[in-house]
Amino acid sequence: MKIWMNGNLVDQSDAKVSVFDHGVLYGDGVFEGIRVYGGRIFQCTAHLDRLFESASLIRLEIAYSAEQLEEAMVDCVEANSLESGYIRLVVTRGPGTLGLDPFKCPQPNVFIIADQLKMYDEEMYQNGMAIILADTVRVSPSMIPSKVKSLNYLNNILAKIEAVDAGVSEAMMLNAAGQVSECTGDNIFLVRDGKVITPPLAASVLPGITRNVVMHLAQRLGYEVRQEAFGIDTVYAADECFLTGTGAEVIAVTSVDGNVMGDGNVGPVTQTLLHAFRALTETDEQIPYDS
Ligand code: PMP
Repeated sequence: MKIWMNGNLVDQSDAKVSVFDHGVLYGDGVFEGIRVYGGRIFQCTAHLDRLFESASLIRLEIAYSAEQLEEAMVDCVEANSLESGYIRLVVTRGPGTLGLDPFKCPQPNVFIIADQLKMYDEEMYQNGMAIILADTVRVSPSMIPSKVKSLNYLNNILAKIEAVDAGVSEAMMLNAAGQVSECTGDNIFLVRDGKVITPPLAASVLPGITRNVVMHLAQRLGYEVRQEAFGIDTVYAADECFLTGTGAEVIAVTSVDGNVMGDGNVGPVTQTLLHAFRALTETDEQIPYDS
């Protein structure tokens, strides 16, 4: 496998960062996870917008322009003959001293991995998935702005461990105010009385690219879309629940902590949105990123 690293395509075995990199020492850095469908980088502009916003919020300067990074991703996809798969674009703070001070790290590392991706079996898209409600509370935007897709995922990892222990793939997290926030790597949507509802960013939510795309598609299909805070009782009372994410795409949740959603099947609105999403992945259309 070829890795794009600081301007060059190198062999996987030569793609290395220092043990003094603050990305390694402190999880100091930002990243993007991006899909490749049919050789096309899905929603490339939106992902790069989010990356630059994440970086700017932690005062990390990226030495490449969005155009250069797009070109680098294309090169990396081509070098690995990737038709469909996943790109991981990472910017670490770079090597520095053992102290926290990020401004003592003069040279951020930028690297791109383009690899195959195996997420959920098609069976799960047809039948939906069971998830749990995690005890781990989502970090508040006042602790780490939720717009920052940072390299520090321990909060999510702790919730993921709860999911793995419970034998499921995802865990729904509440925020410090007890509102539903998001899952460990996916945003959450409900459908109630034909309305499509998702928590607002203020509920400690990462502005997911898939979330944004699905809100646009739902609107285009004539659904009323609301960004509204809600508690777990609203989840249990909903007709449908589904998750969105680069890896998961659009996937129905059929039970939460053993409480069956709706009639336990993938609901019609979820199905419609999954079809619309899959159709979009076959095009070049870039949905404006306005989360
Ligand atoms: N929330 C979290 C915490 C995530 O890590 C991700 C990305 N895996 C998402 C939501 C979904 O975002 P996107 O649609 O941009 O992949």
